[in-house]
Amino acid sequence: MFDHTTRPESAALFERAQRVLPGGVNSPVRAFRAVGGIPPFLVRGEGCRVWDADGREYLDFVGSWGPLILGHSHPEVLEAVAEAMRDGLSFGAPTAREVEMAELLAEIVPHIDMVRMVNSGTEAVMSAVRVARGVTGRGKLIKFDGCYHGHSDAMLVGAGSGALTQGVPDSAGVTAGAAQDTLLAKYNDLSSVSALFDANRGQVAAVIVEPVAANMGVVPPEEGFLQGLRGLCDRNGALLIFDEVITGFRLGLGGAQAFFGVRADLVTFGKIIGGGMPVGAYAGRRELMSQVAPTGPIYQAGTLSGNPVAMAAGISQLRILHSHPEYYTQIAENASFMAEKLREAAQKHGIPMQVNQCGALLCPYFTETPVRSFDGAKASDLNRFRAYFHEMLGRGIYLAPSQYEAVFVNVSHSRADIETACAAAEESLAALT
Ligand SMILES: *Cc1c(COP(=O)(O)O)cnc(C)c1O
Repeated sequence: MFDHTTRPESAALFERAQRVLPGGVNSPVRAFRAVGGIPPFLVRGEGCRVWDADGREYLDFVGSWGPLILGHSHPEVLEAVAEAMRDGLSFGAPTAREVEMAELLAEIVPHIDMVRMVNSGTEAVMSAVRVARGVTGRGKLIKFDGCYHGHSDAMLVGAGSGALTQGVPDSAGVTAGAAQDTLLAKYNDLSSVSALFDANRGQVAAVIVEPVAANMGVVPPEEGFLQGLRGLCDRNGALLIFDEVITGFRLGLGGAQAFFGVRADLVTFGKIIGGGMPVGAYAGRRELMSQVAPTGPIYQAGTLSGNPVAMAAGISQLRILHSHPEYYTQIAENASFMAEKLREAAQKHGIPMQVNQCGALLCPYFTETPVRSFDGAKASDLNRFRAYFHEMLGRGIYLAPSQYEAVFVNVSHSRADIETACAAAEESLAALT
């Protein structure tokens, strides 16, 4: 087990933090409640490595929860930010970088003509849902149990990861009115979706889905699931929203629409799109997006939206990805290699484990049964995960502190780094027996 006394600086900071920040953090999962112990306070990152306030080095598989697909402190991205910064931090007036970003997105993401930039994934989803309701004139939404779409009221129903590890899938402070129009279906179960459509005929504005569920660990869509959603939406006059806050620019530059060959009506982005800056976006075809203010009646605004420094970081990262298609092969191969090594190690040490993997996302679950839904994910032995997490942290491998989060493999991980992590995983699994 990891010895927390060797991190006095982080411990002191956490003490101070807890006095002035709820749980010592600005986003709940970081507080380590699901695994116990004191979170390392990070001070610096470079490539796939991060350093904490006590000078410890870690091999990072979080990457700021997805955004840093190129790794920390990529020199070109930092230079783009510095250059933008020298001209001023914000104007609240139109700037060229917003146009460049939107043109780039329309070029690399299938089926989108227009984009609206926002400041987080939460905001992107909240706004896309408003567009779906505004254009259809309907109120209800279908979402999937265990999928996370940010913390807006209507989305905090069956919301996975953070909400899940807290043991409060629904939040206090969300009114019955705000939650009642959110209908819950089961991921990878089309019959649960058609039953909701049948029971709410003519009332469903949209189905929103994480094309690869990545807030209940990692659960890929089964053959025909996303296509089936497309068909059900078409037959029922509802829109299909892909929440690509994680899958966007991660499965490939074109996100899940390109990866699985399924068209969505609206897509939401966050994380990678900002290259580490607070950015989100929602996008779709012209006929839908032109309904947004000021050209249409659906109001949505943002003082800092399209911020030039944030745009510079995002554009720079996306352009690098655009000119290196081989990066996607590399990260998927490394993730697949890692998944296989984890399976082998678990088998060798007699530990029941399922490793789900899709592209650069993977997740080991401590269960004998294949995980294809939220119920399956919940079958994982959380005590085992906790022990595994601390064994890994003690060996310098920084994983997300929750069973229900993905392991993010990034371009900055060399095969040698992946092998280092796999060796640590084998030792960690051996220590669990
Ligand atoms: C992280 C996430 C969000 C929320 O994005 P924030 O930037 O944290 O508000 C929404 N949807 C999905 C799928 C996410 O993973």
